[in-house]
Amino acid sequence: MYQLQKAGFDAYLVGGCVRDLLLGREPKDFDVATNADPEQVRKVFRNCRIIGRRFRLAHVHFGHEVIEVATFRGAGEARNDDQVLNKEGRLLRDNVYGTIEQDVWRRDFTVNALYYNIKDFSVVDYTGGMADHQAGILRLIGDPETRFREDPVRMLRAVRFAVKLGFHIDPDCEKAMHNVAELLASIPSARLYDEALKLFMSGYALQTFEMLRHYGLFQVLFPATENSLAVEDEGFPRLLLIKALENSDNRIAEGKTVTAYFLFAAFLWDAVQIRSKQKMAKGSPEFIAYQEAANEVIAMQVKSTALPRHITLAMRELWSLQPKFNVCVGSKPSRLITHPRFRAAYDFLLLRAQTGGADLELAKWWESYQNANETEQRKMTAPSQQAKSTKSPRKRSYRKKSKPQEVSSD
Ligand code: ATP
Ligand code: MG
Repeated sequence: MYQLQKAGFDAYLVGGCVRDLLLGREPKDFDVATNADPEQVRKVFRNCRIIGRRFRLAHVHFGHEVIEVATFRGAGEARNDDQVLNKEGRLLRDNVYGTIEQDVWRRDFTVNALYYNIKDFSVVDYTGGMADHQAGILRLIGDPETRFREDPVRMLRAVRFAVKLGFHIDPDCEKAMHNVAELLASIPSARLYDEALKLFMSGYALQTFEMLRHYGLFQVLFPATENSLAVEDEGFPRLLLIKALENSDNRIAEGKTVTAYFLFAAFLWDAVQIRSKQKMAKGSPEFIAYQEAANEVIAMQVKSTALPRHITLAMRELWSLQPKFNVCVGSKPSRLITHPRFRAAYDFLLLRAQTGGADLELAKWWESYQNANETEQRKMTAPSQQAKSTKSPRKRSYRKKSKPQEVSSD
């Protein structure tokens, strides 16, 4: 900001960092607003890239940090090539520049429209953002339905901020969300994938899931999951989903890493199961049935949220390893355990077992098997042992509905 000022421009901190600092939280990142246009910003900094088409911004790199520098947006009246709305009222491009007084009205929520001025260390508030911030209210600036139509992703942002900050969504905004939730489907799938990551990977996945469902937004992001939720029986598959979200939140709280593919695999597991069972009933071998079902389910999902290849690859592996856990005899277990994705696949098995979708004894067997030394492992998988043992049968039914029980996961 000082560099921009030195070059003769105005610069303010704006958005999430001001909002979070006012709550005494450490901001995730810093956003700067300026009257310099992206090209001018680029000239001020050596390490600067201009990104975005719909909304051009400058990314200024400082070591590993990226500061997003946005030029003040102009008034919404003069629509031309730089500012384009489609027939549903969605802003396809918003690159008309203006002043801070104009920029403020283009922002989404009043609490996101507070500008911190380094000249006199004051907070500039045109929209009543300070009062809303104090009252813990998320209020869209302007007419809620129009603003959601301009950019339906703002509905996802409302949910994300409400959960993260513990704020309430203003009732008028809520009403508008119920009215226009389905417009989210018009957003390019790549952007929805980015938003899905922000929604589910920041430590409040379970609450976020519940709230997205409440506003009818979840079904747009994960239609196959929503469908399978509608036909839940005896707690399937809702239990598995909830447990997966809960585990993920707990891991983040403990400072552990979480992977997106695990969660997406849990979301779509039921759909894969149903399809693969149908294929097996028609005579497909188990492994082929799983592969085909996975392909189909993924092909449908990427229409809603794009999924990068490394994610879909990992999901496929996680799913196709599940039936392999049923074989507890011979050399297969020793091979399975060396699979690079074994640990994740085992965690997934455990999740299924804990929620009644797989045999708990089977999960316990694999837990003992992992902890055993080589000699013990050989004994455990010896055919003669298998015949005697009641605990580690040769092959178990794939989806035995046992009552959900707890097994430790670590
Ligand atoms: P986070 O803590 O997730 O970074 P944030 O509010 O800073 O939250 P950003 O996506 O970094 O979110 O955006 C920075 C600011 O830009 C927002 O606070 C808001 O003022 C404005 N903004 C971002 N996205 C939109 C949008 N879709 N519509 C209107 N204004 C937006
Ligand atoms: Mg931000």
